[in-house]
Amino acid sequence: MPELPEVETTRRGIAPYLEGQRVSRVVVRERRLRWPIPEDLDVRLSGQRFVSVQRRAKYLLLNAEVGTLISHLGMSGNLRLVEAGLPAAKHEHVDIELESGLALRYTDPRRFGAMLWTADPQQHELLLRLGPEPLTDLFDGERLFQQSRGRSMAVKPFIMDNAVVVGVGNIYATEALFAAGIDPRRPAGGISRARYVRLGIEIKRVLAHAIERGGTTLRDFIGGDGQPGYFQQELFVYGRGEEPCKVCGTVLRNVTLGQRASVFCPRCQS
Ligand SMILES: [Zn+2]
Repeated sequence: MPELPEVETTRRGIAPYLEGQRVSRVVVRERRLRWPIPEDLDVRLSGQRFVSVQRRAKYLLLNAEVGTLISHLGMSGNLRLVEAGLPAAKHEHVDIELESGLALRYTDPRRFGAMLWTADPQQHELLLRLGPEPLTDLFDGERLFQQSRGRSMAVKPFIMDNAVVVGVGNIYATEALFAAGIDPRRPAGGISRARYVRLGIEIKRVLAHAIERGGTTLRDFIGGDGQPGYFQQELFVYGRGEEPCKVCGTVLRNVTLGQRASVFCPRCQS
């Protein structure tokens, strides 16, 4: 599933081909994504220039002169540039053709993604209640400490809650808690300020590192398969249950928290 780093990598990959470009037409071959693609998308977007490409949480905001296309990659979606008019294979549901002769092509085998139109993304119901971006100054460990007081839920689902901070998916929550030495089962409200400060730093570090690694795959956004990396990064614990800890050699333990599989080291994390 595309996580925040993959979505940010996608944004960086497609933005140079979209910004300043005028849309010549929109071809929709399959409307049934998580929500239906609006019937009038072609009418609304054609003839307009893209002004900027932004990201909020895992949503891409393709800002046109009037209105914004909100896209989400769902479980299996990707966006890449192809030559306009290139015959579409199965699952290649949308082409946004540009005057440059390229087209932004949306592919999504499982169709859990989204492509929606809004006059004002700041007021859109999908974006309205999102917490701060993890890589901005609006987020830090002090904020986690303040928000966690009185909360009895485990710390791992707490930091994965989009109302607390956006974009901390299962991989990154698991790895950041290991790096901070915090047992993912601990109640969020019982963790000290000093430990949250460390955790805030580790969340930023693991996400920034994954984005940096994704940067090496940008060339794939034009002509390639559009798969942005799915970083073969150096994972310490995620996906390594029952294997030895890379730091201390103790067997890593599997645990389910908030319906999500998790792994931790019983010696390095407390
Ligand atoms: Zn260990």
